Parts: sequence; C-alpha cells; structure tokens
Amino acid sequence: MRRVTELLKRTFKRMYKTWRDRPYEISEVFESWIGEGAHTGLPATFVRFSGCNLDCEGCDTPQKSRVTFMTHFVEEVVEYISLFSKRRSPFYHWLVLTGGEPMLQVDFPLIRALIEAGWIHIHIETNGTVKLPYDEVERFIWNEHPICKVWYAVSPKSNLVIPEVFSQADEIKIVIPKEMTWFTRIVEREQYQLQSKCIIWLMPWMDDKYEENLDETLRLSKLWNVPVTLQWHKLVGWR
Ligand code: SF4
Repeated sequence: MRRVTELLKRTFKRMYKTWRDRPYEISEVFESWIGEGAHTGLPATFVRFSGCNLDCEGCDTPQKSRVTFMTHFVEEVVEYISLFSKRRSPFYHWLVLTGGEPMLQVDFPLIRALIEAGWIHIHIETNGTVKLPYDEVERFIWNEHPICKVWYAVSPKSNLVIPEVFSQADEIKIVIPKEMTWFTRIVEREQYQLQSKCIIWLMPWMDDKYEENLDETLRLSKLWNVPVTLQWHKLVGWR
C-alpha cells in the first residue's frame, strides 16, 4: 500500500508543477568554494537570489539587485540550478543559497524539491531578519532524508534580527567592527538560546581599514575565546 501511495505521489508531482504567487528571482548561479565559516574550502554551487530587505552601508554584493532568471515554479528553479552545476559528489559538494537575502524567497517547497533532486547538503546564508522554515525542513529531513543537512549561517546586520533565527542557527558570523553591537549580545549565548553546537565566529571586515579590523578581531578573539574566520574568497580571489 505504501509503495502505491509513493507511486501516486511521484506521478502527481510529475504531472503538476509547484506554483506559487510570488516568483523566485535569481541573480546568478556559479561554482566556487565556500570562503568563510565552518565550511571554508568546500566546493559548492552558489545560487544568489535577488533582492534584500536591508540596505547596509558598504554592502559587498551589488549584484544582488540584478535578476537573470525568474519563475513561479519550484521545479524550474531546480532545473535552472542544475544547468550551472557540475557537482561530482553530493557528499562534498554543497549548495549555497545566498543573496541579497535568500530567505525572502527560499521556502519549504523549494528546499524539499532541492533535496529530492539530490542536493543533500544545503547551506543558507541569511541576515536573520526573515523567519526560517526550520521545523518543516527538520521534520521532512528526519522522516524522509535523514542523511541530508540544511545548514543555517546567520550574519546579523540589523536590530531587526528575529531571536528565534539565532536559536536555529548552525553558525553566526559577526563582522568586526561593522556589527560590533551584536558581539557582546551574542557571546552571552543564553540570551538567544543558541544551540550548543552553534559556532560563533568573528570576521574582520575587508575594507580599507582591514589591518585595524583584523587586529581588533584578534584582540576580541583572545579576550572572549571566540574563533576567527577570514573571507578567503576575497583574499584568494575566488568568486
Ligand atoms: S544584508 Fe547583506 S546583501 Fe543585504 S544589504 Fe546588507 S550586506 Fe548587502
């Protein structure tokens, strides 16, 4: 009976595309290596979703406002990504959903479709101001794809961060000195009920005061025992 239900489910999926009111808008898809945080150095396909709900001074992704692909259909997003990806091993090759702010667009149906298409490691970069479909995703993975992992990397940029998102984060990257206000708040982990596995990183901002920022990052790291991550993609010239 279970097999028949599965078969029917698959047939329906093939017959009907998953449509939603608001289109998905993608700025670019490219392959590179993850440049910062816990997954530094891992090969990945990057999907940059267009648009952001913040307007940070010195934003380092001006290409976020460009739209090169737009669709209302989840399946077409999955197909579009596969056009640009040459991933060889699903275990070592991650899919990075970034922006702009990807969580303005990324929803549970899209994450489910990506996992069903074979992306077993998905890394999401968010500024933490949009609710995550955390429970739905965790339930789906637990029940149907236990080897998958959806990793939430939060880099706070504004006071609008939703505390619940911090408590769901796998890693939090605090840019020094730009987001200093978050530093003291976050290192007191209890306030946001961070998961015990959540890694807090300090990351020096790469502007014309980089050396000063790096010194300050190292000083705070020693003082608070918080690890440092660099933006290797910028230092080494990865995309
Ligand atoms: S949250 Fe990120 S992408 Fe959005 S404006 Fe700020 S730095 Fe740019």
